[in-house]
Amino acid sequence: MTDTTLQITELRYRWPGQAGFRLTVPDLSVARGESVLLLGESGSGKSTLLSLICGTILPDQGRVNIAGTNIATLSSGARDKFRAEQIGVIFQQFNLLPFGTVADNILLPLHFAPMRRKRVGDATAEASRLCSALGLPAGVTGVKATAISVGQQQRVAVARAMIGQPPLIIADEPTSALDANSQAVFLDLLFTQTATHNTSLLMVSHDPRLGERFDRVIRMEDIAQIERAAA
Ligand code: ADP
Ligand code: MG
Repeated sequence: MTDTTLQITELRYRWPGQAGFRLTVPDLSVARGESVLLLGESGSGKSTLLSLICGTILPDQGRVNIAGTNIATLSSGARDKFRAEQIGVIFQQFNLLPFGTVADNILLPLHFAPMRRKRVGDATAEASRLCSALGLPAGVTGVKATAISVGQQQRVAVARAMIGQPPLIIADEPTSALDANSQAVFLDLLFTQTATHNTSLLMVSHDPRLGERFDRVIRMEDIAQIERAAA
């Protein structure tokens, strides 16, 4: 067990075929239970960095350690499983399965993460419990994910990320489509969930007003160097 959930060391990455964008991150860490807001302009490489942390792309140089494991040392299949076990992801557009029910969507990560599955016990009961903890109406679990409001879809995305208590939650601009009041409600729910399980949270935004809620605020320009080749 390590107290550092995420440690990035001397990372360098360039998009293949994309001579224009190269990202360097010398040192970034997130401690167990810590909440970190990462701010940066559009196009500054925030989503690229999150993809590197999730291991959906691999660095050209340097290391991304999650809970002490360098994810580049895992085979592609082992990395997919490791990601499913260790990281709950909340995307900007929530990425819910449109043809699935709310329960199908919440339970989805458990199919790829046996340790999370085991922690949960009765999966259907846990999906209902999370829904109620997140203020979703009773009985919502059987409803199609497309049939609920955007605010409710966002809560479902939180439940899907949190189920089975992965040690790290990654959220990519999850509040950008919301008004100020819905943003505050969303952050309340997210922080209540992460505090309960001492979960680390790395959230990306371009809105500095969100910063006061987090343990630490970092800026892309302070943690990363970006090079863009002339066209
Ligand atoms: P942000 O999330 O901060 O808006 P991104 O990481 O999405 O920034 O994008 C940074 C740069 O990375 C973009 O300008 C683009 O050149 C490049 N990029 C992002 N995604 C891809 C991709 N899938 N393929 C090739 N280049 C990409
Ligand atoms: Mg982005």
